[in-house]
Amino acid sequence: MFHQKLSVSLKFIVITLIAGVSSLGITKLDYLLGVKQSKNESIKATQDKLMAVSLTTNQINQVPNKFHSTVVYQGKLKANEKVIALTFDDGPSPKNTAQVLAILQKHHVKATFFMIGQMVKYFPQVAKQVAADGDVIGNHTWHHSYRHVDVVTAANELNTTADIIYQTTGVKTTLFRPPGGFLNNGLADYAKSQKYTLIMWSEVSGDAERPSPQVSKMVNNVLKNAKPGAIVLMHDGGGNRSRTVQALPQIIDGLKAQGYRFVTIPELLEIQAQEKI
Ligand SMILES: [Zn+2]
Repeated sequence: MFHQKLSVSLKFIVITLIAGVSSLGITKLDYLLGVKQSKNESIKATQDKLMAVSLTTNQINQVPNKFHSTVVYQGKLKANEKVIALTFDDGPSPKNTAQVLAILQKHHVKATFFMIGQMVKYFPQVAKQVAADGDVIGNHTWHHSYRHVDVVTAANELNTTADIIYQTTGVKTTLFRPPGGFLNNGLADYAKSQKYTLIMWSEVSGDAERPSPQVSKMVNNVLKNAKPGAIVLMHDGGGNRSRTVQALPQIIDGLKAQGYRFVTIPELLEIQAQEKI
């Protein structure tokens, strides 16, 4: 049902985009798509490309229906399914997010970023880069407050964040991570009512502790607790995350040495859904 609605609204968006873009003419469209076109290439071909871009962006952000309105701490996978999901919260931030992205790119790793709405507003280019790299984006509220909120405030926190993520990156978020992991302050209930999948974590790097732990401690925290389907909590915003940036290559190398491959949260849930355990 949700998928049907989504697919209808996705089509509407694509059609609206195409209608809008067609009226701008081919030159403008080339610019929007960032591609060079031959003179003979038809408008139809250009429209197909635009549709492909939009569909690809949003397909990688979808999760199987069975996970809508549920709380996920980790993927429940077979013991030999050595996949793990890295997640980064509280960005996008101008320096550390870019550093994290560069490391992920270098190691061919995809991850999931839970973004704060107002940070997307301040640093839209960084948010765009996350989406352009093929990483997944989730909703982490506008203000990142822990206090109890009424339903109107909760709706505002989530909806404004979803809107700016969409306007900035074209991504329709389906994932929500409650700030501080609080599931009882009104935000999680609203997220469930909107069919978000609530993503917690099963492992912490400890990078948000104060004082910040040594790099070697962060690396060890993750490597010693690694297990199939684990969701690892890290941060690319909310303060100086230079130690997270230093730890990340060692975490990736260490997990690879243990035989793990890296998946986004939607990929993790898709694997679990297909295993049917
Ligand atoms: Zn957070």
